Amino acid sequence: MKVRNCMEDLVFSRLDDVLANQEHICHCAKCRADIAALALNFLPPRYIVTRQGEAYTKTMSLEQQFTADIVIAITNAAKIVGKVPLHQNGEKNLC
Ligand SMILES: [Zn+2]
Repeated sequence: MKVRNCMEDLVFSRLDDVLANQEHICHCAKCRADIAALALNFLPPRYIVTRQGEAYTKTMSLEQQFTADIVIAITNAAKIVGKVPLHQNGEKNLC
């Protein structure tokens, strides 16, 4: 049994799709991680208890519930990170 925040899976599963429409924003690993982290700070955590094979079904039903919110959160996070990319500043964070 594991407890995990499946909102993380949902954000990462949508990240590429949303960023594909944001060509002016840097897509390097640091900026992508910053965008995902910031988007997750905008979204409510959704912790689930998982057994083997069970996580996928629960994640899918939550995805339907939160898709619009997730896309908006990633879009907003991308705007913020795009304005002030931290990929050259090492350890600084947006928190
Ligand atoms: Zn970057």
